[in-house]
Amino acid sequence: KESPSKKFQRQHMDPENSASDDTKYCDHMMKARNMTKGRCKPVNTFIHEPKEIVDAVCRETNITCKNGQSNCYQSSQPMSLTHCRQTGASKYPNCQYRGSDITKQIIVACEGNPYVPVHFDAYV
Ligand code: ADP
Repeated sequence: KESPSKKFQRQHMDPENSASDDTKYCDHMMKARNMTKGRCKPVNTFIHEPKEIVDAVCRETNITCKNGQSNCYQSSQPMSLTHCRQTGASKYPNCQYRGSDITKQIIVACEGNPYVPVHFDAYV
């Protein structure tokens, strides 16, 4: 079974590519990373930074998550992101997205030993 940290890497990590506003990036990546199976995942953010940099966010400033849990951490450094949002016209199984390139600090939830990101909470 897929571990929570592997799931985070599948859903959110894309260090190989730099940010790309083009709609094809999100349409392609949301499908390639299995987020269009059963339903179209409505929103998802990809992080274009090395894994070590993102893992290290679990050792940065501890903050409260959106769900009230206390295992969230905010990066001090802004990171290169692509935020994918499903379009109004998108209809499963033809999931369609709009992508926005942004450079923002990220907030992730961390769990486990090693203590690594398992959920993307927000960017600020
Ligand atoms: P994401 O939220 O990163 O888009 P999922 O919702 O698919 O992805 O998975 C998030 C996982 O992280 C779930 O298994 C959830 O139990 C776990 N998790 C751990 N801590 C938190 C938290 N503080 N807030 C939300 N999810 C969390």
